[in-house]
Amino acid sequence: MNPLDEIRKRRTFAIISHPDAGKTTITEKLLLYGNQIQMAGTVKGKKSGRHATSDWMEMEKERGISVTTSVMQFPYREAMVNLLDTPGHADFSEDTYRTLTAVDAALMVIDAAKGVEERTIKLMEVCRLRDTPILTFINKLDRDVREPIEVLDEIEDVLKIECAPVTWPIGMGKSFKGVYNLLRDTTVLYQSGQGHAIQAVREIKGLDNPELDAAVGSYADELREMLELVRGASHEFDLERFLAGKLTPVFFGTALGNFGVDHMLDGLVEWAPPPQPRAAIERIVDASEPKFTGFVFKIQANMDPKHRDRVAFMRICSGRYEKGIKLKQCRTGKDMRIADALTFLAGERENVEEAFAGDIIGLHNHGTIQIGDTFTEGEALQFTGIPHFAPELFRRVVLRDPLKSKQLHKGLTQLAEEGATQVFFPLRNNDVILGAVGTLQFDVVAHRLKHEYGVECAYDVVNVATARWVEAANERELEAFRAKAYDNLSIDGAGHLTYLAPTRVNLSLAEERHPEIRFNETREI
Ligand code: GDP
Repeated sequence: MNPLDEIRKRRTFAIISHPDAGKTTITEKLLLYGNQIQMAGTVKGKKSGRHATSDWMEMEKERGISVTTSVMQFPYREAMVNLLDTPGHADFSEDTYRTLTAVDAALMVIDAAKGVEERTIKLMEVCRLRDTPILTFINKLDRDVREPIEVLDEIEDVLKIECAPVTWPIGMGKSFKGVYNLLRDTTVLYQSGQGHAIQAVREIKGLDNPELDAAVGSYADELREMLELVRGASHEFDLERFLAGKLTPVFFGTALGNFGVDHMLDGLVEWAPPPQPRAAIERIVDASEPKFTGFVFKIQANMDPKHRDRVAFMRICSGRYEKGIKLKQCRTGKDMRIADALTFLAGERENVEEAFAGDIIGLHNHGTIQIGDTFTEGEALQFTGIPHFAPELFRRVVLRDPLKSKQLHKGLTQLAEEGATQVFFPLRNNDVILGAVGTLQFDVVAHRLKHEYGVECAYDVVNVATARWVEAANERELEAFRAKAYDNLSIDGAGHLTYLAPTRVNLSLAEERHPEIRFNETREI
């Protein structure tokens, strides 16, 4: 097939939701529809008792959380869908944010009983940075939940996005009867107890069809009345507004009962955009360009404990990967021949023969690849928009065996490069300070230092409230600042000068006193 046709078929997306809204359950159902499953890692198996491949870390099993981001590819209708899974736990949100830079669309899952929750708000903010188109699935209609119209209002109010219901639920809880599709003027009936299979679709055409009354009884009239209200109060689906990230098509259903997920999937393949153009410092790269380009958004360690390796996940931005391709790592200028990029067919490692813009491939990484690295067929390019976030939590590392300081530095520098933590070396002493967005990151780092680098460490509290990457218009100003603020400055794992503020007030004062310095809350790689 023509590579352009392959690229046009790609739909690359991630799910954003608050924990427990149903992301895992929906992912399982999506894979059921995709039946020919290719997965990197797999869905976490905490509740189903299934031991998924991504349970590579004991800690992960113990805590029942998915530390990793995985990639699943499956064909659906005419499309090839790439679903990038994200860690559910807020402590690993940096990973999630970066994964959102690698998708062209997102699915927002809302628990119909709970409405808009805090993590969804945060993740929506991240999607907004790139105006990512968003589809919405309102889940758990098989329970007694809030009035659907109220949930839509809340989404519009809190998340500031227009809602266009594509389906509307009929009843809820024990009386959940199905959904009416506003665009197709068709009712799809729900049958409970069919959660593990693809259900035979029972459809009734037309809202005034007496068959509808026969099937759902008095709910038919309620639906007719409700729809008048809904049509008046909500927005009509508009493809352009959706693509601009201003409007979200909304679907209702129950992931557990496997109802409605397919309606959403139909919407995704029909409306979500194919691989989008991407900004590099030098120029915009279009997905249809024949030459390969891509960037690394995630590094995952120990995908397979037996192999003890790390895999760099790369989003292909243009062109085609072919086994044996020669790629230039733009940061170092080095050429590499890549014959063993990975995909993970049904949980097994597989070498991919070819992959296209929109796809994610895994590269073996022996410590030379960093998050944010751009790869091309020779052109010097650096894709932008893959951020590091200023950490909010800090610890001083206490080494149990002082003779292991060299291993500690090596380990922490590598772990920082793959985004597991951030590390800071103060100018004024030999302390080693770790920064994280969530406390679990510290546990992961201690665990990995011990098992991968043979270094045992503990943590101490440290008087740091926040960090900012500092920049100035010229070297002279930066030097002057360096001398003045010496006691608060450190070098991060990538060699950038960073201001570690003991308090927020201290930071504000420093910002006031030094208008010539930029204090950045994020650092792009
Ligand atoms: P995640 O944390 O977002 O991945 O959520 P899970 O998929 O693990 O779901 C959280 C809980 O909600 C689990 O106990 C699921 O069985 C349950 N759940 C998910 N979808 C539904 C649904 O449609 N109806 C009901 N009643 N429960 C659901």
